Parts: sequence; structure tokens; C-alpha cells
Amino acid sequence: MPELPEVEVTRLSLAEPLQGARIQSLRLGKPLRWPLGVAPEALQQRQVLQVRRRGKYLLLELDRGLLLLHLGMSGSLRLLPLALPGPAGLQEWPAPGAHDHFDLLTDRGLLRLHDPRRFGAVVYAEGESDPVALKLLGKLGVEPLTPAFEPKAFHAALQLRRAHIKQVLLAGAVVVGVGNIYACEALFAAGIRPTAVAARLSRPRVQRLHAAIVQVLQRALHSGGSTLRNFSNAQGQSGYFQLQTQVYDRAGQPCRVCGTPIRLLRQGQRSSYYCPQCQKP
Ligand SMILES: [Zn+2]
Repeated sequence: MPELPEVEVTRLSLAEPLQGARIQSLRLGKPLRWPLGVAPEALQQRQVLQVRRRGKYLLLELDRGLLLLHLGMSGSLRLLPLALPGPAGLQEWPAPGAHDHFDLLTDRGLLRLHDPRRFGAVVYAEGESDPVALKLLGKLGVEPLTPAFEPKAFHAALQLRRAHIKQVLLAGAVVVGVGNIYACEALFAAGIRPTAVAARLSRPRVQRLHAAIVQVLQRALHSGGSTLRNFSNAQGQSGYFQLQTQVYDRAGQPCRVCGTPIRLLRQGQRSSYYCPQCQKP
């Protein structure tokens, strides 16, 4: 599943080429998770001002309105260069594959969403305060890679949560974009068991967790996102580095620090991996 670092890598690769691009037309394939919410023709000739990110949403800010893109479970975006105009002076439109369900043709290239499982979405909103956008973005916690994410406020927010710390991280209401791999890895780095109750974590432990979250996400970001079968950046390059995880997906294997076998635990449908020795309740 594309996580925050993968989405940010996608954003970085699209931001420059799409800035200032003018929309020529849209093509919708099979239904995605949510409907577009606007007639595709209405977006013709609008201009992309910038590509931003909020949590795992990419926001294509237009000269009027915005498009919110989510990659769901298996989505990836590519920006395909345009072929030279054909004899009739029309742009050649590269034929979509069976799993290409959204095309945005611009004068800078064709932005294509490939999404075999179709949990992704492209949604139009008039602005960020539009109810449609608020529904998707309104409950998101702070961005972990911005100054707004700071230890004191993080501790204060956790004090109000009686749930397991792992669940609180995944829920995204305190801090956004810490997906399963990164939550497992950050909790290991901070020496905190996934089942520790968020509200009971001491300030020093929360400080360690804060630092671990930032470090784990930044490392993934610098490496171009973690390994994902379906992930490729906007130029279609895949084969990112194998994120060497400390605990994630290593059940039964020895902890890289102490040698104790890594344990697997189910928490709300998700797998949590931890070292019973290095991570304290
Ligand atoms: Zn260990």
C-alpha cells in the first residue's frame, strides 16, 4: 500500500512538470472508490497551479477548484510524455491498459492513474473548505514532516487517547501518514510495545517515539519510498530499495539488536511486529 513517503515521492516527481499545466481533457475508466463529482468537461482549460500533499492525498490545486487524488491500496501515478500531434493536429492519446482508470490529459503530459484494486480515487472539490474536501481531509492529524509535529503537542495529544499506541498512530487523527510498516519500525526504534496505552506513555518515551517517527519516514522518503509491488514514481521507475526493516514482516526471525525472536500480533486487522525484549509495555 502506498504510504506517506511514497505519496510524497510521487508528489515531488509531479510538482515541477505539472505546475502551470493546462487540462485538455479527462478520461474515466472503471469506477474508483468515490466518484469524481464533476462533469469531466467542466475541468477543460483549467490550469494546475501546484501539487500539494495532505496525508496520503495529493492535491492538484487548479486555478479554480482542486482535484484530490488517493492511491488507495494499489494505485500509482505516472506522467506520460505526449506524442507529437498526429496528422489531424490532435494529440496522440496513449491507449490505457486494463487497470488504468483515470487519465488527465494536459499540455505537459498525460497523468495516468493505474489502480488494479480500484480503492484509489480522484475527487473534485471547489476548495479545501468544500464539504467534499472536509470529509476527506478534515480529520487528518498533523503532518509528521513539518514543524507542526513537535514532541510536546504530540505528548499532550496522546494523553487523551486510551487506545494502544499502534492503533493511535494508524488512525491518523493525531499524526497523519504513519502507516503500518512505519508504525512498527518507529515503535521498535523507540523501544515501545505496540500494545502500550497511548495515554500512559511518559514524556521521555513520547519524545523518543516522536524522533523515531520522523527518522523512519525521512529515511523512507530519501530512499524513494519503501518497497512496494505496485508502486512506481511518476516516471514509471520502480524497483526501489528494499527497506531493511528491524521488525516489520520478520515474525520468528531474531531481533537484529538482541536476537530474541520477533513476535507477531494482530491489532484491529493489522499485523504488528515487535521484539518482546527491546520493546517495553
Ligand atoms: Zn530485541
